[in-house]
Amino acid sequence: MAKKTVKDVDLKGKKVLMRVDFNVPIKDGVIKDDNRMVQALPTIQYVLEQGAKLILFSHLGKVKKEEDKAALTMSPVADHLSELLGQEVTFVPTTRGKELEDAIADLEEGHVLLFENTRFEDLDGKKESGNDPELGKYWASLGDGIFVNDAFGTAHRSHASNVGIASNVDQAVAGFLMEKELKFLGEAVNNPKRPLVAILGGAKVSDKIAVIKALLEKADKVLIGGGMAYTFLKAKGYEVGKSLLEEDRIELAKELMEQAGDKLVLPVDITVADDFSNDANIKEVPADAIPEGWEGLDSGSKTNELFSNILQDAKTVVWNGPMGVFEMEKFARGTNAICQAVAHLTDAITIVGGGDSASAAKNSGFADKFTHISTGGGASLKFLEGKPLPGVEALSDK
Ligand code: AMP
Repeated sequence: MAKKTVKDVDLKGKKVLMRVDFNVPIKDGVIKDDNRMVQALPTIQYVLEQGAKLILFSHLGKVKKEEDKAALTMSPVADHLSELLGQEVTFVPTTRGKELEDAIADLEEGHVLLFENTRFEDLDGKKESGNDPELGKYWASLGDGIFVNDAFGTAHRSHASNVGIASNVDQAVAGFLMEKELKFLGEAVNNPKRPLVAILGGAKVSDKIAVIKALLEKADKVLIGGGMAYTFLKAKGYEVGKSLLEEDRIELAKELMEQAGDKLVLPVDITVADDFSNDANIKEVPADAIPEGWEGLDSGSKTNELFSNILQDAKTVVWNGPMGVFEMEKFARGTNAICQAVAHLTDAITIVGGGDSASAAKNSGFADKFTHISTGGGASLKFLEGKPLPGVEALSDK
């Protein structure tokens, strides 16, 4: 990697600042999925083993008003981290000031401290999300000049807790998770074993135009599913009933199809429903025969077979976005079919990015069969688009 990593710096006895992505789903103080925390453990453990004094921080959710703070405190995250590490984690319930500075001064080698949600700073003028220069400088001043960024999930954003700090320290380096994400995603799109098959789903074409364009250039096949498929079907001249449709993107879909030729593969049949509900009546229809008043909420069996067959020959797979409204069991078959087909490839690099497809992959029971399940949704999309990630750009060059 062209950027320095945590292995390139001497950490012994140093106060090391480390940005992690502990933006985990929490309900009533209970963490529902700790994958991002687990994935950050190798870097945390390494830094502690080197005898550093580790200062961790992360954002959690969006803090828009004072009342949001109670549900978005990092306190339960600190407790859970302590369990995962098997050692005490000092939690400091603030993002700046004497209490934090004193706790850092008291921190011993091999010990770890987590301070409060970085986005608490957003209440006073979006200081964290707006990369306020004073805040990045202040946080940088809390350490001994070393900043480790292991938060791939926020690398596509320029915030005080990543870019801000990185610009104010001697050494800004990647953690192992950041390194792993960049390696797998980078190889998949820049140096793939072929055929490279990309599967793109999810709700809207508009969110994914840049990534569709980029992958049409790099991949051998691009399979399109989910809500965004209907704008393409409409562009082919089919009626799509009440299915999700972005009228203002039909022309663009037409252009993309013309450029891509048979590289771009659309669903050939659809599971349609008479209501957006798990209790709806459903039936499978050909993609050019969606009845008026019905909406496409999942791909059909023939599509699942077609996509699975194409995947069988793949040597690299990049998957982002569900094939249907997979949150409802009735419309999860397309997404599950992709999951199974990708998981059963034995001689392929398989990469899943994006919150929904990543959670589908994890819940499928085949999580360990994927080469890499990315911790970053937006960040992995930006990366696949070929855009620079500010959080990575700000790290020190090797
Ligand atoms: P995205 O965030 O763009 O990846 O979209 C994910 C969302 O797309 C999920 O919540 C799915 O329920 C939704 N989705 C997938 N297929 C459809 C569809 N055919 N109609 C409506 N929503 C869909």
